[in-house]
Amino acid sequence: MRLGLFLAFLTALGGLWGCVAPRVSVKPSPLPGPPAVKLTPTVQPPVLAPDQLLGLKRPPGLVKDPDSGQYALPEVMDAFLKLKARAEQDNWRLILVSGYRSFWSQRRIWNHYDNLYRSSDKLSEKARVRAIMSLVSVPGLSRHHWATELDISEKSLRGQLVRIQPSTPKRVVDFYNWMAVNAPQFGFCRVYLGIHGAVTDEPWHWSYFPYSRDYERQFMALSDYHRILDISVDDVDYLMKNFPKILKREIGSVNNECSR
Ligand SMILES: [Zn+2]
Repeated sequence: MRLGLFLAFLTALGGLWGCVAPRVSVKPSPLPGPPAVKLTPTVQPPVLAPDQLLGLKRPPGLVKDPDSGQYALPEVMDAFLKLKARAEQDNWRLILVSGYRSFWSQRRIWNHYDNLYRSSDKLSEKARVRAIMSLVSVPGLSRHHWATELDISEKSLRGQLVRIQPSTPKRVVDFYNWMAVNAPQFGFCRVYLGIHGAVTDEPWHWSYFPYSRDYERQFMALSDYHRILDISVDDVDYLMKNFPKILKREIGSVNNECSR
């Protein structure tokens, strides 16, 4: 899906969630816990420079999903296509909604939400940043910069990324349950369970952990993340002033079961 469509979808979600924010209290979906992720990549993760970890430079050799036009590292895309083929055997039609995102793509989404919250809610700066962070990572801190993260939907969801609510159709719940059981066999881990940190439950976000566990360590070893935040990022003053806390909330969102 092109970024425009993705943004249109985010806009729709923003409309939906904007009315409940900042009371973002969506309970984690009742999915099975992640089984052990297959952690034996056939090739070593390509080395990513700090600028690549921060989304300022494209990771090397990204490949395009012909159906969605989304990009990921070759091994990640290969794992996705294998998972997709496996899913088809069980009558699930996977849709890759979002793969690699640059700092600038992420900034566009961040600023979009910032504008949305400014116009629809009278929130303090802190509440606004928290509300945005529950939906989208701070530009530069998104795991999507690493080209290892995929937002995956299904045909019955018409490409939407939805959480499980009491009214969610059974087929959708069945799909997420299928993914929870099968995606780890292809190296994917569901990193955002909505239990810790800033990000709420994201049953659609899958991380290719044979690679991303390394990038996670390298990312945490960086010391100058904040250099990339400039005046083009909305709420940058607040983000800069509170950067250690922001970083902790962002990193603390990740499901630590993935590392086991
Ligand atoms: Zn995602």
